[in-house]
Amino acid sequence: DLAVLSSPWTLGPLRLRNRVVMGSMHTGLEVLDDGGAAMAAFYRERAAGGVGCIVTGGIAVSDEARGGPDFAVFGVGGADERFRVAVDAVHDEGGAVLAQLFHAGRYALANGMVDRNGRPQRVVAPSALPWAAARGVQPVALTDAEVRRTIDDFAAAARSAAAIGFDGVEIMASEGYLVNQFQSPLTNLRDDEWGGDAVRRRRFAVEVVRAVRAAVPDLAVTIRLSGADLMPGSTTDDEVDALVHDLLPLGLDAVSVGIGWHESRTPTVQASVPHGAWLGYAERVAAVVRASAHPEVQVIASNRMTDLRDGESVLRDRRVDAVALARPFLADPDIVRRSLDGRFDLVNTCIGCNQACLDRSIVGQPVSCLVNPRAGRELALPLRPTTDPKRVDVVGGGPAGLAAAVDAARRGHVVTLWEASETLGGQFALAAVVPGKEDYAATVQAARAELEDRGVTVHLGRAATTADLLDSDAVVLAPGVVPRRIAVPGAELPHVVTYEDALRDGVPPGTVAVIGGGGIGVDTAAFLVESPDESVRAAEFAARWGVTVADDLVGDLPQRQPAAGRTLRPGSDVTVLRRSGKFGQGIGITSRWVAVGRLRDAGVRMIGGVQEYLRIEPGTLWIRDEDGRDTAVPADHVVVCAGQERSPEVDAGAVDAGADDAAAVAQAGLAAGLAAAGVPHAVV
Ligand code: SF4
Repeated sequence: DLAVLSSPWTLGPLRLRNRVVMGSMHTGLEVLDDGGAAMAAFYRERAAGGVGCIVTGGIAVSDEARGGPDFAVFGVGGADERFRVAVDAVHDEGGAVLAQLFHAGRYALANGMVDRNGRPQRVVAPSALPWAAARGVQPVALTDAEVRRTIDDFAAAARSAAAIGFDGVEIMASEGYLVNQFQSPLTNLRDDEWGGDAVRRRRFAVEVVRAVRAAVPDLAVTIRLSGADLMPGSTTDDEVDALVHDLLPLGLDAVSVGIGWHESRTPTVQASVPHGAWLGYAERVAAVVRASAHPEVQVIASNRMTDLRDGESVLRDRRVDAVALARPFLADPDIVRRSLDGRFDLVNTCIGCNQACLDRSIVGQPVSCLVNPRAGRELALPLRPTTDPKRVDVVGGGPAGLAAAVDAARRGHVVTLWEASETLGGQFALAAVVPGKEDYAATVQAARAELEDRGVTVHLGRAATTADLLDSDAVVLAPGVVPRRIAVPGAELPHVVTYEDALRDGVPPGTVAVIGGGGIGVDTAAFLVESPDESVRAAEFAARWGVTVADDLVGDLPQRQPAAGRTLRPGSDVTVLRRSGKFGQGIGITSRWVAVGRLRDAGVRMIGGVQEYLRIEPGTLWIRDEDGRDTAVPADHVVVCAGQERSPEVDAGAVDAGADDAAAVAQAGLAAGLAAAGVPHAVV
């Protein structure tokens, strides 16, 4: 029951169809030279999915406000025309859209960027303090006159948004961007009207809001501010409250509460961050607003929410007015419609992996989604129903096979899915037992539900043979992967298992050596030492990072229920070994440090630079360490995480040229057999 969430919402001059906001995401579509078509298609699908209000990715208020070369600036290079097309698309679908007014300040990644006059991009900030990740880019401190001009830039951008047809604007003042930089004593060392004490540090935000409100009296005006910077020595909770107090009389329609700076060492958006962890900060802001002289100002909560049932409980219990979700709209543009229909089983849940969104966005690559490859490519991969239904067979029920089957079924083909094991999901089903990755099970569940709805025939526990597929019009072979074996003496002993065995069956008590410290090794170690219960991990997370976690939201949905009881062990009983490269290599840039940090915090021993795995004996793994010494690693059990290779079933068995044709095809491996029989097929 999403009664509150689905109720109409008044946001300043806007009457919105529900209380769900699609939060701002930088996609890179804003600067494509396509007249706005791709951006319009992206937003149109999400608006058609029923969301109440969309906030665009950040639109720089000037050249020097850009975060990177793929940021749009109103009035430059046809941006206004592109946004007009996108705004019209949202309106066509009954939605509303706010332009996010953005200034990166010292977060601009300016290497090689030029302004519209061909000059190197200037990077500005309250004070000349660089950001380590900006690779040597040195910002210059804004002069007083430039500060005032920057405020005018925000107002001018708001006027442009109004002229284009936007329904409102959101001022980006969170996540460590310019407005937030002015507020923090870490990045504002000025001693003038714009810094020197907390009141003067807040003044920039106040004047930006005042100027924007005056510039667009008829539009909704909201601000995205930082509930907590999660930076030692930065703005205090009381200073956040004081900023809210200062802003409320200025005619704001809503305050949207963000969390954490990009350079914060506290994880905020990774899969291991408990669901709902940050909602307490929005609740705090809501309490300030309600106790003020302007209780009508709306409060929007966000961060680590993947399920609108959580959104409903936030709205009911926390006195906030709306919820904003961002990445879940990449994963499923229809999340609102499906949830309002009560079809939570169909929602393609964001798994928090960051692999195709944030990890790409920060290096300027086009954003998409690991569980929805169409995200950001709606035009390139149109979902048109077929006029000529074919028989399509998909072999393999892992993530790739499921995605292929769902896509073919959506287009109207007659689909059969073959899975040799008794369960769907493949590596995703396996990953779902790793602490923090429980949502991977939701991906599998959504695919299963959609296949069922669309009448796809699913054969479980039945390996397809070539003969099964000979009448097919098109076959997708999605064989998946199997664990790579290692050639180490003793590898055949019974206490040596693959990561697949370990994750599926657990590992009995005792010391464990994990051979291989890439992404799978790190995940397997987390599985061995961390609680499967998210509410337990939420309490540990709060203690570790000294933050308030809204723990009543975690662990209450079916897909987040802990896996069946299994033995946990002290971190010191687990050793992860790696020959070369970084621990967690292969995990995306925004998640690796968190995944490896968890193991270090838990006391897991990590040995890098292993020259050679010498032999495995009962109780011991012998290695030659990086100094060339033969060293014994305690190992009552050994788990091999040495990577994966393609499942051999597809490639095995060429067609025997000497045999009778039909018999040869039947006995050959699938790919060879289908090729010999002339059945169109692809291996993914
Ligand atoms: Fe979520 Fe991963 Fe998709 Fe990003 S790529 S939206 S984190 S599922």
